[in-house]
Amino acid sequence: MRKIKINRRKFLKDFSKWTLLLVINQILLSKKIFAKQKPKVVIIGLGFGGATCVKYLSNFSQILDLIVIEKNAKIQTCPFSNLVIANVMDYQEIIFKPKINPKIKFNRNNVKFIDPQKKKIVFHNKDFVNYDFLILSPGIGFKSNQISGYSVDDSSHIPHCWDGEKKILEFKRRLSSLENNSKIIISAPDYPYRCPPAPYERASMIAYYLKRKSLKFKILIFDSKNSFTKKEIFLEEWKKEYEDSIQWINRDEGGRVVSLDQRNGLIKTTNGEKFKGDFIHIIPEQKASNLLSSSNLINNDWCKINPMTFELNGYKDLFVVGDSIDAGDMPKSAFSANSQAKILSINLINLILQKDFINPVFLNTCYSFSSKDRAFSIAAWYKLNSKKDRIVSLGSRQSDIHSTNDQRYEESLHAYGWYETITKYLYS
Ligand SMILES: Cc1cc2nc3c(=O)[nH]c(=O)nc-3n(C[C@H](O)[C@H](O)[C@H](O)COP(=O)(O)OP(=O)(O)OC[C@H]3O[C@@H](n4cnc5c(N)ncnc54)[C@H](O)[C@@H]3O)c2cc1C
Repeated sequence: MRKIKINRRKFLKDFSKWTLLLVINQILLSKKIFAKQKPKVVIIGLGFGGATCVKYLSNFSQILDLIVIEKNAKIQTCPFSNLVIANVMDYQEIIFKPKINPKIKFNRNNVKFIDPQKKKIVFHNKDFVNYDFLILSPGIGFKSNQISGYSVDDSSHIPHCWDGEKKILEFKRRLSSLENNSKIIISAPDYPYRCPPAPYERASMIAYYLKRKSLKFKILIFDSKNSFTKKEIFLEEWKKEYEDSIQWINRDEGGRVVSLDQRNGLIKTTNGEKFKGDFIHIIPEQKASNLLSSSNLINNDWCKINPMTFELNGYKDLFVVGDSIDAGDMPKSAFSANSQAKILSINLINLILQKDFINPVFLNTCYSFSSKDRAFSIAAWYKLNSKKDRIVSLGSRQSDIHSTNDQRYEESLHAYGWYETITKYLYS
C-alpha cells in the first residue's frame, strides 16, 4: 500500500516536472519564432503624425520591432505658437520632451536620405538603419525663389516660424522693438500650406499683443489667394477687436508679393506697387519635406499616397503621413495628421496580420484665436472616393459669424482643451 503511494507521488512529481519543462520549452520556442518574424517598423519624425503612429503601434511590440527617429531632443509645436508670440502663453508651454515607451528604440538622429531599394535609412553622420516598413512624418519644406530678395535661410529676415525650429524668441524680440504707429506687413502664401487659418490667426495675435501695449499700428496682409478659411469670421472679429487696424489685400487687388527689399524695408506686389513696412513677415510657399526630394522619392511638391494605407505611390512598404502628403480635400493640420496616422497604423497592423483594411473616415477641427479669450472653429469630416484613391469631404461646420462673446470665450476653452488633450496624449 505504502509502495503504491510512493509511486503515485513520484509519478505526479515527475509529471509536473516534465509538464513545466514542456511549457517553458514551448514559450521559448514561440518567443524565438516571434523574434525571428518580428518585422522592423521605423518611424521618422515625432511631430503630430509620427507621434500618433508611435502611440498606436507601441501596443503591438510583441509582434513588431519599433524604432523611432527624430532629429530634435524636444518637440516645439506650431499649434498655439501664435499665442506664444502674443505673450498669452509661455514659450515652455509649447515645448515637449517626448516620453518614449521603454519597449521602443529611440534614435535621436538627423536622416539624410532614404534608399528604398535597399530599405535603408542613412543619417548625416553616415550611420544607417534598415527597415521592413518605414513611416515618414517629416512635416514640410519651403520653396525657394518665390519672392526675390527673400530666403528662408537668411537670418536677417524676420523668421517665418512655420515649422518646429526654435526661432520664436527671435520673432518676439523683433516684434517687441516696434514703436507707436508701426506698419506690419504679412505675406500669406498660396495653397496648399500648413494650417490654412494660421496666417490670419498670427495677424490677430500680433494685433492683440500691440493693442495690449497700447500702441497704434497697421497690419497689412498681402495674400496670394482670393479667399481664406473662416474669412467672414476673421473680418468680423478684426473689426470688433481692432477696428480698422488689420487690412487684407487679396490676390486680385495685387496681394501677391513678388520681391523684398530688406535694406529699405520695402515689398513689391504683382501690380508693381511698393509698400514700406517696419516689420516684414514673409510666410513662405511650401512643399513636402526636403527629406522626400533629397531621397528622390517624389518629383512633385507633395507626396501622392494610397489614402487607404498611406503607402507612397510606387514604393512598397514605405508610408507617408501628415503635412508632406497630398491629402485631397483634407487641410494640413495637426488634427488631420493625427487622424490620418491612426488609420495608417491600424491598416499597417492589418497588413502585417493579413487582415482586411478598414475603410476610413477622417476628422479635422481647426480652432483659431482672434484674441486671448476669443476663438472660433471649423470642423470637417472626410471619406475615400469611390475609386478609393482620394480623400474627399463629407461636409463641414463652422462657428456662427454672430457668436456671442460668451460663445467665443467658450470656444477658446475648447481650443485650449484640444491642445492639452492631444499634447498630453502624444508626449507624456
Ligand atoms: C502657426 C501655426 C499654427 C498652427 N496651429 C494649428 C492648430 O491650431 N491646429 C492644428 O491642427 N494644426 C495647426 N498647425 C499645423 C500643424 O503644426 C501641422 O499640421 C502638424 O505639425 C503636421 O504634423 P507632421 O507630423 O506632418 O509634421 P511635424 O509636426 O512638423 O513633425 C515633423 C517632425 O519630423 C522631424 N524631422 C523632419 N525631418 C527630419 C529628419 N531629416 N530626420 C529626423 N527627424 C526629422 C521634425 O523634427 C519634426 O519633429 C499650425 C501650424 C502653424 C505653422
